[in-house]
Amino acid sequence: MIYLDNAATTRPKKEVIEAMLPYLSEDYGNPSSVYQMGNAAKAAITSARQKAASLLHIPATSIYFTSGGSESDNWVLQDCFHRALLHGEKHPHIITSSIEHPAILNTCHFLEELGAQVTYLPVDSNGFVNPEDVKTAIRPETVLISIMTANNEIGTIEPIHEVGEIAKEAGIPFHTDAVQAFGQIPMDLSELPVDFLSASGHKIYGPKGVGLLYIREGLSVRSLIHGGGQERNRRAGTENVAGIVGFGKACELAEKTLAERMEQESSLSDYLIERLLSEIPGTRLNGDSAKRLPNNVNVIFPGLRGESILISLDIMGIEASSGSACTAGSLDPSHVLLALGLSEEEARGELRLTLSDETTKEEIDTTVNALKKIVSRLSKS
Ligand SMILES: *Cc1c(COP(=O)(O)O)cnc(C)c1O
Repeated sequence: MIYLDNAATTRPKKEVIEAMLPYLSEDYGNPSSVYQMGNAAKAAITSARQKAASLLHIPATSIYFTSGGSESDNWVLQDCFHRALLHGEKHPHIITSSIEHPAILNTCHFLEELGAQVTYLPVDSNGFVNPEDVKTAIRPETVLISIMTANNEIGTIEPIHEVGEIAKEAGIPFHTDAVQAFGQIPMDLSELPVDFLSASGHKIYGPKGVGLLYIREGLSVRSLIHGGGQERNRRAGTENVAGIVGFGKACELAEKTLAERMEQESSLSDYLIERLLSEIPGTRLNGDSAKRLPNNVNVIFPGLRGESILISLDIMGIEASSGSACTAGSLDPSHVLLALGLSEEEARGELRLTLSDETTKEEIDTTVNALKKIVSRLSKS
Protein backbone atom coordinates (compact mmCIF):
# COMPACT_ATOMS: atom_id res chain seq x y z
CA MET A 1 0.00 0.00 0.00
CA ILE A 2 1.20 3.50 -0.86
CA TYR A 3 -0.36 6.26 1.23
CA LEU A 4 -0.34 9.66 -0.46
CA ASP A 5 -3.13 11.41 1.41
CA ASN A 6 -1.22 13.02 4.26
CA ALA A 7 -3.15 16.29 3.99
CA ALA A 8 -6.25 14.32 5.05
CA THR A 9 -4.51 12.68 7.98
CA THR A 10 -1.12 11.24 8.90
CA ARG A 11 -0.02 7.99 10.45
CA PRO A 12 0.69 8.54 14.17
CA LYS A 13 4.38 8.03 14.96
CA LYS A 14 5.37 5.07 17.15
CA GLU A 15 6.78 7.45 19.77
CA VAL A 16 3.42 9.26 19.82
CA ILE A 17 1.47 6.06 20.51
CA GLU A 18 3.99 5.00 23.16
CA ALA A 19 3.72 8.35 24.92
CA MET A 20 -0.08 8.10 24.92
CA LEU A 21 -0.51 4.51 26.11
CA PRO A 22 0.03 5.01 29.86
CA TYR A 23 -2.69 7.69 29.91
CA LEU A 24 -5.14 5.26 28.31
CA SER A 25 -4.42 2.62 30.94
CA GLU A 26 -2.76 2.86 34.36
CA ASP A 27 -2.29 6.67 34.48
CA TYR A 28 -5.95 7.46 34.05
CA GLY A 29 -6.18 10.23 36.63
CA ASN A 30 -8.28 13.35 36.16
CA PRO A 31 -5.93 16.35 35.84
CA SER A 32 -8.23 18.34 38.13
CA SER A 33 -7.82 15.88 41.01
CA VAL A 34 -5.46 16.86 43.79
CA TYR A 35 -3.85 13.47 44.55
CA GLN A 36 -0.78 12.04 42.83
CA MET A 37 -2.40 10.45 39.80
CA GLY A 38 -4.24 13.69 39.03
CA ASN A 39 -1.09 15.72 39.43
CA ALA A 40 0.77 13.40 37.07
CA ALA A 41 -1.85 13.91 34.38
CA LYS A 42 -1.74 17.65 34.93
CA ALA A 43 2.04 17.67 34.62
CA ALA A 44 1.81 15.67 31.37
CA ILE A 45 -0.52 18.32 29.92
CA THR A 46 1.81 21.11 31.03
CA SER A 47 4.70 19.40 29.31
CA ALA A 48 2.69 18.93 26.10
CA ARG A 49 1.71 22.60 26.18
CA GLN A 50 5.37 23.58 26.37
CA LYS A 51 6.22 21.40 23.38
CA ALA A 52 3.45 22.93 21.26
CA ALA A 53 4.50 26.43 22.35
CA SER A 54 8.12 25.75 21.51
CA LEU A 55 7.21 24.89 17.92
CA LEU A 56 5.51 28.30 17.61
CA HIS A 57 8.06 30.30 19.67
CA ILE A 58 5.47 31.58 22.12
CA PRO A 59 4.77 31.34 25.86
CA ALA A 60 3.04 28.07 26.81
CA THR A 61 0.34 30.05 28.60
CA SER A 62 -1.07 31.22 25.26
CA ILE A 63 -1.92 27.66 24.10
CA TYR A 64 -5.39 26.18 24.70
CA PHE A 65 -6.07 22.56 23.81
CA THR A 66 -9.28 21.78 21.92
CA SER A 67 -10.85 18.77 20.18
CA GLY A 68 -9.17 19.66 16.88
CA GLY A 69 -8.72 22.21 14.14
CA SER A 70 -12.47 22.52 13.51
CA GLU A 71 -13.23 23.45 17.10
CA SER A 72 -10.40 25.98 17.21
CA ASP A 73 -11.71 27.64 14.03
CA ASN A 74 -15.27 27.68 15.37
CA TRP A 75 -14.15 29.10 18.68
CA VAL A 76 -12.46 32.19 17.25
CA LEU A 77 -15.10 33.00 14.66
CA GLN A 78 -18.05 32.48 16.97
CA ASP A 79 -16.51 34.38 19.86
CA CYS A 80 -15.53 37.42 17.79
CA PHE A 81 -19.03 37.51 16.32
CA HIS A 82 -20.88 37.08 19.62
CA ARG A 83 -18.74 39.57 21.48
CA ALA A 84 -19.50 42.21 18.85
CA LEU A 85 -23.23 41.44 19.17
CA LEU A 86 -22.97 41.92 22.93
CA HIS A 87 -21.37 45.30 22.31
CA GLY A 88 -24.34 46.35 20.23
CA GLU A 89 -23.02 45.66 16.71
CA LYS A 90 -25.97 44.02 14.92
CA HIS A 91 -24.09 42.95 11.81
CA PRO A 92 -20.48 42.18 12.71
CA HIS A 93 -18.28 41.83 9.63
CA ILE A 94 -15.73 39.06 9.06
CA ILE A 95 -13.12 38.98 6.29
CA THR A 96 -11.95 35.58 5.07
CA SER A 97 -10.94 33.95 1.79
CA SER A 98 -12.95 31.89 -0.65
CA ILE A 99 -10.52 28.95 -0.37
CA GLU A 100 -10.69 28.31 3.37
CA HIS A 101 -11.39 24.89 4.87
CA PRO A 102 -15.08 24.08 5.51
CA ALA A 103 -14.40 24.57 9.25
CA ILE A 104 -14.08 28.28 8.45
CA LEU A 105 -16.47 28.60 5.50
CA ASN A 106 -19.38 26.73 7.07
CA THR A 107 -18.93 28.55 10.38
CA CYS A 108 -19.15 31.81 8.41
CA HIS A 109 -22.33 30.59 6.67
CA PHE A 110 -23.78 29.73 10.08
CA LEU A 111 -22.90 33.18 11.45
CA GLU A 112 -24.43 34.83 8.38
CA GLU A 113 -27.74 33.24 9.38
CA LEU A 114 -27.33 34.98 12.75
CA GLY A 115 -26.70 38.35 11.15
CA ALA A 116 -23.00 38.40 10.33
CA GLN A 117 -21.71 39.95 7.14
CA VAL A 118 -18.86 38.03 5.56
CA THR A 119 -16.47 39.02 2.79
CA TYR A 120 -15.05 35.98 0.99
CA LEU A 121 -11.99 37.38 -0.75
CA PRO A 122 -11.09 36.03 -4.17
CA VAL A 123 -7.67 34.53 -4.87
CA ASP A 124 -5.48 34.74 -7.96
CA SER A 125 -4.84 31.82 -10.31
CA ASN A 126 -2.18 30.40 -7.98
CA GLY A 127 -4.41 30.67 -4.93
CA PHE A 128 -2.94 33.79 -3.33
CA VAL A 129 -5.03 36.26 -1.37
CA ASN A 130 -4.00 39.81 -2.23
CA PRO A 131 -3.24 41.73 1.02
CA GLU A 132 -4.47 44.92 -0.70
CA ASP A 133 -7.89 43.27 -1.05
CA VAL A 134 -7.91 42.63 2.69
CA LYS A 135 -7.20 46.31 3.32
CA THR A 136 -9.97 47.42 0.96
CA ALA A 137 -12.49 45.05 2.55
CA ILE A 138 -12.06 46.49 6.05
CA ARG A 139 -15.15 48.32 7.38
CA PRO A 140 -15.90 50.06 10.67
CA GLU A 141 -17.84 46.94 11.76
CA THR A 142 -15.09 44.43 10.86
CA VAL A 143 -14.44 42.24 13.91
CA LEU A 144 -12.08 39.58 12.54
CA ILE A 145 -9.82 38.76 9.62
CA SER A 146 -9.24 35.03 9.11
CA ILE A 147 -6.89 33.84 6.37
CA MET A 148 -5.37 30.35 6.31
CA THR A 149 -1.60 29.93 6.48
CA ALA A 150 -1.51 27.26 3.77
CA ASN A 151 -4.28 25.73 1.71
CA ASN A 152 -5.12 22.07 2.32
CA GLU A 153 -5.90 21.27 -1.30
CA ILE A 154 -3.36 23.12 -3.40
CA GLY A 155 -0.68 23.79 -0.77
CA THR A 156 -0.37 27.51 -1.54
CA ILE A 157 1.26 29.41 1.35
CA GLU A 158 -0.60 32.69 1.92
CA PRO A 159 1.05 36.06 2.66
CA ILE A 160 -0.10 35.99 6.28
CA HIS A 161 2.69 38.26 7.46
CA GLU A 162 1.44 41.07 5.22
CA VAL A 163 -2.21 40.39 6.08
CA GLY A 164 -1.34 40.37 9.77
CA GLU A 165 0.39 43.76 9.46
CA ILE A 166 -2.69 45.22 7.79
CA ALA A 167 -4.94 43.82 10.51
CA LYS A 168 -2.66 45.17 13.23
CA GLU A 169 -2.59 48.62 11.69
CA ALA A 170 -6.39 48.63 11.53
CA GLY A 171 -6.68 47.29 15.08
CA ILE A 172 -8.60 44.20 13.96
CA PRO A 173 -7.81 40.74 15.38
CA PHE A 174 -6.16 38.36 12.89
CA HIS A 175 -6.73 34.61 12.94
CA THR A 176 -4.98 32.04 10.78
CA ASP A 177 -6.04 28.43 10.24
CA ALA A 178 -2.56 26.90 10.29
CA VAL A 179 -3.68 23.28 10.44
CA GLN A 180 -1.76 22.38 7.27
CA ALA A 181 1.27 24.54 7.98
CA PHE A 182 1.85 23.85 11.68
CA GLY A 183 4.86 21.58 12.05
CA GLN A 184 5.32 21.43 8.26
CA ILE A 185 6.91 24.83 7.67
CA PRO A 186 8.61 27.17 10.18
CA MET A 187 6.18 29.45 12.04
CA ASP A 188 7.59 31.97 14.48
CA LEU A 189 4.78 33.73 16.28
CA SER A 190 7.24 35.93 18.14
CA GLU A 191 7.65 37.67 14.78
CA LEU A 192 4.40 36.98 12.93
CA PRO A 193 1.60 39.48 13.66
CA VAL A 194 -0.98 36.78 14.41
CA ASP A 195 -3.53 37.01 17.23
CA PHE A 196 -5.15 33.57 16.93
CA LEU A 197 -3.90 30.37 15.33
CA SER A 198 -5.55 26.97 14.90
CA ALA A 199 -3.64 23.69 14.65
CA SER A 200 -4.49 20.00 14.82
CA GLY A 201 -2.73 16.85 16.04
CA HIS A 202 -3.60 14.39 13.31
CA LYS A 203 -2.07 16.40 10.47
CA ILE A 204 1.39 16.22 12.08
CA TYR A 205 1.70 12.51 12.93
CA GLY A 206 -0.27 12.88 16.15
CA PRO A 207 -3.70 11.56 17.20
CA LYS A 208 -7.11 12.67 15.94
CA GLY A 209 -9.53 14.57 18.17
CA VAL A 210 -7.00 17.00 19.61
CA GLY A 211 -5.94 20.44 18.47
CA LEU A 212 -5.04 23.82 19.82
CA LEU A 213 -5.92 27.44 19.66
CA TYR A 214 -3.18 30.00 20.22
CA ILE A 215 -4.56 33.17 21.78
CA ARG A 216 -2.21 36.14 21.95
CA GLU A 217 -1.64 37.12 25.56
CA GLY A 218 -3.92 39.91 26.72
CA LEU A 219 -6.77 39.27 24.28
CA SER A 220 -10.11 38.60 25.87
CA VAL A 221 -11.78 35.46 24.59
CA ARG A 222 -14.71 33.66 26.14
CA SER A 223 -15.40 29.94 26.09
CA LEU A 224 -17.05 28.07 23.27
CA ILE A 225 -17.60 25.04 25.54
CA HIS A 226 -19.01 26.02 28.92
CA GLY A 227 -18.63 23.98 32.09
CA GLY A 228 -15.71 23.38 34.43
CA GLY A 229 -12.61 25.50 34.79
CA GLN A 230 -10.27 23.48 32.59
CA GLU A 231 -7.79 25.24 30.29
CA ARG A 232 -7.71 28.25 32.63
CA ASN A 233 -11.50 28.72 32.41
CA ARG A 234 -11.48 28.96 28.64
CA ARG A 235 -12.32 25.45 27.46
CA ALA A 236 -14.46 23.27 29.71
CA GLY A 237 -14.48 19.48 29.80
CA THR A 238 -12.13 16.91 31.33
CA GLU A 239 -8.99 17.07 29.25
CA ASN A 240 -8.22 14.50 26.55
CA VAL A 241 -5.03 13.66 28.43
CA ALA A 242 -3.75 10.88 26.15
CA GLY A 243 -4.58 12.92 23.04
CA ILE A 244 -2.87 16.02 24.39
CA VAL A 245 0.22 14.02 25.40
CA GLY A 246 0.35 12.46 21.91
CA PHE A 247 -0.06 15.86 20.29
CA GLY A 248 2.75 17.22 22.47
CA LYS A 249 5.01 14.36 21.43
CA ALA A 250 4.16 14.99 17.77
CA CYS A 251 5.08 18.68 18.23
CA GLU A 252 8.39 17.75 19.82
CA LEU A 253 9.25 15.39 16.95
CA ALA A 254 8.05 17.93 14.38
CA GLU A 255 10.32 20.62 15.76
CA LYS A 256 13.34 18.31 15.79
CA THR A 257 12.91 17.08 12.23
CA LEU A 258 11.38 20.13 10.54
CA ALA A 259 14.29 21.22 8.32
CA GLU A 260 15.17 17.71 7.27
CA ARG A 261 11.55 16.76 6.45
CA MET A 262 11.00 19.91 4.44
CA GLU A 263 14.03 19.29 2.31
CA GLN A 264 13.27 15.62 1.73
CA GLU A 265 9.58 16.16 0.97
CA SER A 266 10.06 19.13 -1.32
CA SER A 267 12.70 17.37 -3.38
CA LEU A 268 10.43 14.32 -3.74
CA SER A 269 7.36 16.39 -4.58
CA ASP A 270 9.34 18.45 -7.12
CA TYR A 271 10.40 15.17 -8.71
CA LEU A 272 6.80 13.93 -8.73
CA ILE A 273 5.51 17.16 -10.31
CA GLU A 274 8.26 17.14 -12.91
CA ARG A 275 7.51 13.54 -13.92
CA LEU A 276 3.72 14.04 -14.03
CA LEU A 277 3.94 17.21 -16.13
CA SER A 278 6.50 15.82 -18.56
CA GLU A 279 5.24 12.25 -18.92
CA ILE A 280 1.45 12.62 -18.88
CA PRO A 281 0.35 14.97 -21.66
CA GLY A 282 -2.15 17.67 -20.64
CA THR A 283 -1.37 17.48 -16.91
CA ARG A 284 -1.47 20.87 -15.17
CA LEU A 285 -0.22 21.86 -11.73
CA ASN A 286 -2.56 23.72 -9.38
CA GLY A 287 -1.23 26.21 -6.86
CA ASP A 288 2.06 28.06 -6.85
CA SER A 289 5.17 26.16 -7.88
CA ALA A 290 7.41 27.85 -5.29
CA LYS A 291 5.32 29.06 -2.33
CA ARG A 292 3.68 25.73 -1.61
CA LEU A 293 3.73 23.20 1.20
CA PRO A 294 6.72 20.88 0.74
CA ASN A 295 4.53 17.76 0.64
CA ASN A 296 1.71 18.92 -1.65
CA VAL A 297 1.18 17.95 -5.28
CA ASN A 298 -2.12 18.93 -6.88
CA VAL A 299 -2.78 18.44 -10.57
CA ILE A 300 -5.64 18.22 -13.01
CA PHE A 301 -5.92 15.79 -15.86
CA PRO A 302 -8.24 17.72 -18.18
CA GLY A 303 -11.17 15.71 -19.53
CA LEU A 304 -10.90 13.03 -16.82
CA ARG A 305 -12.70 12.52 -13.52
CA GLY A 306 -10.71 12.60 -10.30
CA GLU A 307 -12.99 9.93 -8.78
CA SER A 308 -12.29 7.49 -11.61
CA ILE A 309 -8.55 7.99 -11.18
CA LEU A 310 -8.86 7.49 -7.42
CA ILE A 311 -10.74 4.21 -7.84
CA SER A 312 -8.16 2.88 -10.26
CA LEU A 313 -5.31 3.95 -7.98
CA ASP A 314 -7.03 2.31 -5.00
CA ILE A 315 -7.24 -1.00 -6.88
CA MET A 316 -3.48 -0.73 -7.41
CA GLY A 317 -2.92 -0.08 -3.67
CA ILE A 318 -2.35 3.66 -3.91
CA GLU A 319 -4.37 6.00 -1.69
CA ALA A 320 -4.83 9.60 -2.76
CA SER A 321 -7.51 12.29 -2.91
CA SER A 322 -9.40 14.36 -5.43
CA GLY A 323 -9.82 17.43 -3.29
CA SER A 324 -10.36 17.84 0.41
CA ALA A 325 -11.55 14.78 2.32
CA CYS A 326 -14.46 16.83 3.62
CA THR A 327 -15.91 17.36 0.16
CA ALA A 328 -14.92 14.01 -1.30
CA GLY A 329 -17.88 11.70 -1.78
CA SER A 330 -19.83 14.58 -3.23
CA LEU A 331 -19.53 15.10 -6.96
CA ASP A 332 -19.24 18.84 -6.66
CA PRO A 333 -16.00 20.19 -8.06
CA SER A 334 -13.65 21.70 -5.48
CA HIS A 335 -14.50 25.24 -4.35
CA VAL A 336 -10.77 25.88 -4.21
CA LEU A 337 -10.13 25.04 -7.87
CA LEU A 338 -13.18 27.04 -8.95
CA ALA A 339 -11.78 30.01 -6.99
CA LEU A 340 -8.54 29.70 -9.00
CA GLY A 341 -10.62 30.28 -12.12
CA LEU A 342 -10.85 26.71 -13.39
CA SER A 343 -14.06 25.61 -15.08
CA GLU A 344 -16.24 22.98 -13.38
CA GLU A 345 -15.23 20.51 -16.06
CA GLU A 346 -11.50 21.13 -15.51
CA ALA A 347 -11.86 21.04 -11.73
CA ARG A 348 -13.43 17.57 -11.88
CA GLY A 349 -10.10 16.18 -13.10
CA GLU A 350 -8.35 16.98 -9.81
CA LEU A 351 -5.87 14.67 -8.11
CA ARG A 352 -4.10 15.55 -4.86
CA LEU A 353 -1.05 13.58 -3.76
CA THR A 354 0.36 14.55 -0.36
CA LEU A 355 3.59 13.02 0.87
CA SER A 356 4.77 12.09 4.36
CA ASP A 357 8.28 12.00 5.77
CA GLU A 358 8.27 8.26 5.07
CA THR A 359 7.35 8.49 1.38
CA THR A 360 10.09 6.99 -0.80
CA LYS A 361 11.28 7.65 -4.34
CA GLU A 362 10.25 4.09 -5.24
CA GLU A 363 6.70 4.85 -4.13
CA ILE A 364 6.66 7.99 -6.25
CA ASP A 365 7.94 6.05 -9.27
CA THR A 366 5.32 3.33 -8.77
CA THR A 367 2.62 6.00 -8.51
CA VAL A 368 3.71 7.83 -11.67
CA ASN A 369 3.84 4.58 -13.61
CA ALA A 370 0.38 3.61 -12.36
CA LEU A 371 -1.00 7.03 -13.28
CA LYS A 372 0.45 6.83 -16.78
CA LYS A 373 -1.44 3.58 -17.35
CA ILE A 374 -4.67 4.81 -15.74
CA VAL A 375 -4.76 8.14 -17.57
CA SER A 376 -4.04 6.53 -20.92
CA ARG A 377 -6.79 3.91 -20.36
CA LEU A 378 -9.38 6.42 -19.10
CA SER A 379 -8.58 8.85 -21.94
CA LYS A 380 -9.49 6.19 -24.49
CA SER A 381 -12.75 5.15 -22.87
C1 LIG B 1 -7.87 19.18 8.66
C2 LIG B 1 -8.10 20.64 8.63
C3 LIG B 1 -8.97 21.25 9.54
C4 LIG B 1 -9.78 20.46 10.53
O1 LIG B 1 -9.01 19.92 11.55
P1 LIG B 1 -9.62 18.71 12.44
O2 LIG B 1 -8.62 18.50 13.51
O3 LIG B 1 -9.74 17.55 11.49
O4 LIG B 1 -10.93 19.18 12.95
C5 LIG B 1 -9.11 22.62 9.48
N1 LIG B 1 -8.43 23.35 8.59
C6 LIG B 1 -7.58 22.81 7.71
C7 LIG B 1 -6.81 23.69 6.77
C8 LIG B 1 -7.39 21.43 7.69
O5 LIG B 1 -6.55 20.90 6.80
